[in-house]
Amino acid sequence: MQSSGASSGGPVEVPLLDLKAQYEPLRNEIEQAIREVCDTQRFVLGPKVTELEQRVAEYSHARFAIGVSSGTDALLVALMALDIAPGDEVITTPYTFFATAGVIARLGARPVFCDIDETTFNLSPAAVTEFLEQRCDRYDRRVVDRRTGGTVKAIMPVHLYGQMADMEAFTDIAKRYGLAVVEDAAQAIGAELANGRRAGSIGDIGCFSFFPTKNLGAFGDAGMCVTNDEKLAERLRILRVHGGEPKYYHSVIGGNFRLDELQAAVLCVKLGHLDDWTRARQENAKRYDELFKAEGIGAEVRTPIVVEGQRHIFNQYVIRVSRRDELREHLREQGIGTEIYYPVPLHEQKCFEYLGYAREDCPVAAAAAEETLALPIYPELTDRQLEHVADHVAMFYAGQGTG
Ligand SMILES: *Cc1c(COP(=O)(O)O)cnc(C)c1O
Repeated sequence: MQSSGASSGGPVEVPLLDLKAQYEPLRNEIEQAIREVCDTQRFVLGPKVTELEQRVAEYSHARFAIGVSSGTDALLVALMALDIAPGDEVITTPYTFFATAGVIARLGARPVFCDIDETTFNLSPAAVTEFLEQRCDRYDRRVVDRRTGGTVKAIMPVHLYGQMADMEAFTDIAKRYGLAVVEDAAQAIGAELANGRRAGSIGDIGCFSFFPTKNLGAFGDAGMCVTNDEKLAERLRILRVHGGEPKYYHSVIGGNFRLDELQAAVLCVKLGHLDDWTRARQENAKRYDELFKAEGIGAEVRTPIVVEGQRHIFNQYVIRVSRRDELREHLREQGIGTEIYYPVPLHEQKCFEYLGYAREDCPVAAAAAEETLALPIYPELTDRQLEHVADHVAMFYAGQGTG
């Protein structure tokens, strides 16, 4: 059976994501892998976790990989490994999933939001430099936020939608100021810079999420940290099991950040297909670009910009439009699923009011939050579905979508 939208007759349905379409051809292989784990009754940190760690390290061009319980926990344990604590500050983007900043605050540290780049929606190196140059003082090796007195310790760029942030610039800034870099690569496994370096392998620690909606998705929660630093790898491994090394002897306080063997078994099967899925996502993106161009709605619909030479893995295909909410409603009526990533930038979230940001502090992020819309981009989309989406976006801007 194929997804409903793939049939040749009848109304076309285009969900934002159709995981059943991905599962169907892999069913036997995945069920076999799950059965193998059941037969061993070894459920935590077993051979499948080790295999997945080795393969993800290789895939990401990193030396070490440490499987953890989720993308959020990967970020949390990464900051713990870098000793981020109360009194510290971590620079990040306000235009991301909540977890990026949530983990900073959970450790008692302070998120510092710098604005994003207008074209890629990724953290802007210029904004980060401006913060460091104009709002911080340097004492020897300490960078102090003049307003709060906090010590700036790290930069956490996010590779949003599957396209890498400007890691060359961030590496450079981090070196100049003596800061650590944690890559939030939750949406970007396999994404590459023009120089061929892969997401996760450039900063001190890179963090992946295998949440089901990510390009490599588990059957539940799972995540991974990668690093080229042997000492950090060891620290991450110890922190993952409550800081016990050897077991029951704790010189540091960690948590339960373990990865399930069942999830690893599923992910080992799926990883073998990731490059094919990425290629299909890229082709779908290209097809949308062409269709929108052919419809002559370039002025109303700004399609995603791929930085020259980069490998964008299109976890999301996000257009920038006027009358976004009306367009979304129109598409919903046509059976087309969309999503807004993200409707409220983090510097405007209620829980971060105490940080004292105003909307105007990150105007580019604030504007993006009102204009971006993610369209279905999953690998199994048919031509008919892609055309259906493009047609209805075009119809909306031809004035037929408002009534
Ligand atoms: C999904 C995501 C996370 C969190 O990953 P989970 O596995 O859901 O905990 C963190 N950051 C970004 C940018 C994400 O997209």
